[in-house]
Amino acid sequence: MSEASTTTHSFKAEVSQVLHLVVNSLYSHKEVFLRELVSNASDALDKRRFEAVTHPELAAASELKVQISADPAHGTLTISDNGIGMNASELEQNLGTVARSGTREFLSKVAKAREASDQGLQLIGQFGVGFYSAYLVADRVDVITRRADEEAAFRWSSDAQESFTIEPAERAEAGTTLVLHLKEEQKEFLGEHRLRELVRRYSDYIGHPIELSVPARAKGKDEEPAEALPPTFERINQASALWQRSPSEVTEEQYTEFYRHLTHDFEPPLGHRHFKVEGTQLFAGLLFLPKRAPFDLYDPAAKHGIRLHVRRVFVMDDCAELLPNFLRFIRGVIDSEDLPLNVSREILQDSKLVRVIKKQVVNHSLSMIEDLAGKDSTVFAKFWSDFGAVIKEGLHFESEHRERIAKIVRYESSTQAGLTTLGEYVARMKDNQKAIYYATGTSRALLDSSPHLEALKKRGYEVLFMTDGVDPFAVTSLGEFEGKPLVSAMDENLDLGDEELSEEQRATEAEQKKQAEPLVERFKAVLASKVGEVRLSTRLTDSPVCLVVPDGGIAPHIERLMMARQMGMPPQKRILELNPGHPLIQNLERQDHVDPGSVASWIELLYDQALIAEGSPLENPAAFAQRLTTLLTSASGASV
Ligand code: ADP
Repeated sequence: MSEASTTTHSFKAEVSQVLHLVVNSLYSHKEVFLRELVSNASDALDKRRFEAVTHPELAAASELKVQISADPAHGTLTISDNGIGMNASELEQNLGTVARSGTREFLSKVAKAREASDQGLQLIGQFGVGFYSAYLVADRVDVITRRADEEAAFRWSSDAQESFTIEPAERAEAGTTLVLHLKEEQKEFLGEHRLRELVRRYSDYIGHPIELSVPARAKGKDEEPAEALPPTFERINQASALWQRSPSEVTEEQYTEFYRHLTHDFEPPLGHRHFKVEGTQLFAGLLFLPKRAPFDLYDPAAKHGIRLHVRRVFVMDDCAELLPNFLRFIRGVIDSEDLPLNVSREILQDSKLVRVIKKQVVNHSLSMIEDLAGKDSTVFAKFWSDFGAVIKEGLHFESEHRERIAKIVRYESSTQAGLTTLGEYVARMKDNQKAIYYATGTSRALLDSSPHLEALKKRGYEVLFMTDGVDPFAVTSLGEFEGKPLVSAMDENLDLGDEELSEEQRATEAEQKKQAEPLVERFKAVLASKVGEVRLSTRLTDSPVCLVVPDGGIAPHIERLMMARQMGMPPQKRILELNPGHPLIQNLERQDHVDPGSVASWIELLYDQALIAEGSPLENPAAFAQRLTTLLTSASGASV
């Protein structure tokens, strides 16, 4: 082979960053390199088996497997697979860049943690850096690989400095061989027992055989030295797909390792469900509840879903057809006995089989969440803050699961410190309370001091605070819980309907109304361009005014959101309510007869104040400030 056929390539910047971390960190779990490399080999075997379904010429001549062999004489550890392999451009792309987006996120985390302390070093211990973890133990790695559908083989080689080389090579069979030139102090990884133990600990979930080369042990012929015989390979794992085993035979650690393999998540999952369905359809499933939300949970372009196998053969990742959107954070694998191996997305989309599987996936996912909710409220609160808003989408879009989801959802509340369920709310309802009251807005603090809640609070009624963007839609779809209607405290028709007014009270109310009539008209005239309606309120006690949403209207914070996204909404005009019992309103009634001009300015001020109270921005903050200054100046006794 000529020198000229060797090409040298620089690593992309992010690879150099990863390599720098790997090589220089005082990393305490260097042994995880084996898990990462065996995991890659297993993926390559899966890919080959899958591609061979439609292209039989890609099938391997012998059984698909991973082989590990140590060569103490040369200080090398070799990990070999007869999987899909790589061609030259794939080699350059796959082992010269960092494709996995999570890695970039991880790097920035490590960088931040490093600034603060030495936590970065611990972080890397939890995270899989994939192929590059080979450099935890090796100072040079050679990758000899041949793609299953090509004749040419290539050797990739690098010492993890700035660059790597690619040159033509020989390889009899398709697949990939990694030769790790171990660092002097990492020679322990040549030991047979160490390797056995590591495979058992980290890679036992792998469904393909993992074989270890062992010195041939001549049977019964003690006089014959073992070295004289070529080494033989011995299978050292169970080599059955983890999800096909009986749950009683699978340890927590094996579930966690499998989860890592599946997701690259560096946190262990919060729970799992392992099940087999044996009815008119046969399938096995293993689902996991992740601990933290992926960064792209709300990215509509992000891929979510379950890994699909058909009769053990890996078919596709991120199979969204098996998972409703509101559970898009669930991870796991489904292995169907009945779907065709060459199943396409189109087939999946209207397959009855898929609907049956999806139903089970939803059922098990919800039961995992229910279990977690029943276990530890602190852990669940954290989980809820990551995923609650997504689960609530189910209230809106998945009517068949609505009741079950309604029992899971949590909200903040005006009377409780932490989160509450709807069931707990109902149990606390006052005797004559007819509805579950809620308020939607951007924050708990804002809602808690909202004027809309005054009458409710005065009666000792609890109000749920709904601060997620999805809440106004979700709660409207839900409509009721245990026969109690859900009613917005901001609703136009809020009718507490629980007070029997005496004759006297009725008379006072009628009188107040009559008195206030001219002022209501004045408000209407001054705010004609801003509000759709002005009327007297029953929901206010301490505040003079508030803005309410007309029937069928949209909560103001959602309206702002939709406008910001340019969703082509005409701004809606809301209803301004006046508190006829408030001294300020009563004074304005009198003032209106004497000096209508000054009243107009007060009205503008009150309107702006109502906007501020609900967290809405002012149209003209400068004008507001000016009016307020004028008012304060005169109130302080100074002459303007
Ligand atoms: P990840 O496995 O998360 O994608 P890695 O850095 O471990 O990241 O590997 C990068 C890519 O290199 C893999 O996605 C795969 O395409 C390829 N690769 C790694 N190991 C092998 C292998 N043994 N056989 C075939 N391709 C491999």
